[in-house]
Amino acid sequence: MFSHNKRLQYTVRVSGSNPGLANLMLEQFGGPQGELAAAMRYFTQAVGEDDPGRKDMLYDIATEELSHLEIIGTIVGMLNKGAKGRLAEGVEQEGELYRSITGAGNDSHITQVLYGGGPPLVNSAGVPWTAAYIDTIGEPTADLRSNIAAEARAKIVYERLINLTDDPGVKEALGFLMTREIAHQKSFEKALYSIEPNFPPGKLPGDPRFTSVYFNMSKGEGDTVGSWNQGPNWTVVEAEDAMAVDGGSGLCTVEATQAETEVLTQMALRTQSDPAADPLTGAELGMGEAALAQATAQGDADLAR
Ligand code: MN
Ligand code: MN
Repeated sequence: MFSHNKRLQYTVRVSGSNPGLANLMLEQFGGPQGELAAAMRYFTQAVGEDDPGRKDMLYDIATEELSHLEIIGTIVGMLNKGAKGRLAEGVEQEGELYRSITGAGNDSHITQVLYGGGPPLVNSAGVPWTAAYIDTIGEPTADLRSNIAAEARAKIVYERLINLTDDPGVKEALGFLMTREIAHQKSFEKALYSIEPNFPPGKLPGDPRFTSVYFNMSKGEGDTVGSWNQGPNWTVVEAEDAMAVDGGSGLCTVEATQAETEVLTQMALRTQSDPAADPLTGAELGMGEAALAQATAQGDADLAR
């Protein structure tokens, strides 16, 4: 069950109203790398997890992400306070009010006009949050890797927001949120490497003929070698040598039934192209008579040659 503590996980001190900045903060409220996406990612993974250690960790982190959602949503609400009051009470001239929510590159009209200054579940461009942001596959070595990447992306978005903010209190709270994503990344890394083996993901081993082959498919200036494509771990196959790698013909076959073959043949005959035909087309008709005569004369000359 959930219960709620009215205090925030980190104290939020916003220096002043700034609706444009509020809009940027929405990226971490309802965006793909935001706190709702993180909370739902780990909450759903926790519900489906059978390993007691991972289940516990996922619930802890999911619940912390909800606390982060609360912090970032509160920052949005605080930054919108001034504009919200002015807009609701209509205390300024229309032009002044309009400028206050759209001036100085301040793109907060959706947040103000449609959402009344509260934090909507959208990203900074107004795109609604979607469960499609979550890519859980239900296999811990795959999901933990994705969680590690998700934390890395969240950290980077926070970094960018910190660089955009001159409000010291907001900067500080964002710094806390960014730091927690580092801590989560560390937990997920430990949880991943506490599973042995954890590579390759899943149970089936790869086909040993192909697991350590590097295909040099992009050729020309810029070809670079490193531990990722040469050395004792790799067999390098150059593009020009790359016949069908299984040693087969590289052609495709399928065993179709007699009935399937009959209709496929029927369709192939019906849609057959005639390499000898040069039909008059709508494009040529559309060129007008002069152009058409010229095209026809050129065609006759080509045929005569
Ligand atoms: Mn977070
Ligand atoms: Mn996190």
